[in-house]
Amino acid sequence: MNAKRPLVAVLTGAGISTDSGIPDYRGPKGLWQKDPSAQELVTIEPYRDDPGVRRRAWRMRLETAALAAEPNAGHRALVDLERSGLPTRVLTQNIDGLHQKSGLTARKVLELHGNLRETQCLRCRVVGSMAEALARVEAGEPDPECQECGGILKPHIVMFGENLDPEVLGQADSIVRACDVFIAVGTSLQVFPVAALPYNAVKTGAKLIIVNGEPTPYDEAAAEVIREPISEALPKLVRRLVRERA
Ligand code: ZN
Repeated sequence: MNAKRPLVAVLTGAGISTDSGIPDYRGPKGLWQKDPSAQELVTIEPYRDDPGVRRRAWRMRLETAALAAEPNAGHRALVDLERSGLPTRVLTQNIDGLHQKSGLTARKVLELHGNLRETQCLRCRVVGSMAEALARVEAGEPDPECQECGGILKPHIVMFGENLDPEVLGQADSIVRACDVFIAVGTSLQVFPVAALPYNAVKTGAKLIIVNGEPTPYDEAAAEVIREPISEALPKLVRRLVRERA
């Protein structure tokens, strides 16, 4: 018997959302392989320094918002896990909001890289609504500025060249150290500091399960490695976990 609470922590990366039509930007078939200039739009220095980059980024956000993605069977499996009564926390590297859209309780989701529902001002750090900012773009402001201080607005996400919020990372680490099962889904586990989470989970006695199409540096430390497509593998894995722990 594990003396700890039977908490299941699930870390999700881009791979869980590809079946919802959201490209894995960094993957081998990712958008940035085809159009490297797209990476400027989510990298802090060019975004901060070049109004042309910001205007392109706002147009891209307007177009992306129109193509609203829907959750898939992988996201829905995690809702089933939560509803089974097993204490569940989801840590996600995704900014697409699909876990919440699938019906997972919002406070059970920790967004490690922020979200696209909100904007943040680079100067005064005030957080606002993305929908309102996009409405201003549509109404003719190509690069809407902060209404509090006139500063530059960005999505409330961690861009390339920025650090993760230490408070969010601290919360993630506490969850990881309290869990007895840690499932890493659709993430390459190669980018720190997120890549340290499975290490800390295993070190503190959790069972590690990896669901990912490609090998990860943690495959050898894992109790189980599943290579099947996520939207097939995750529902099966959740059913088994619920059965084993009922
Ligand atoms: Zn401001």
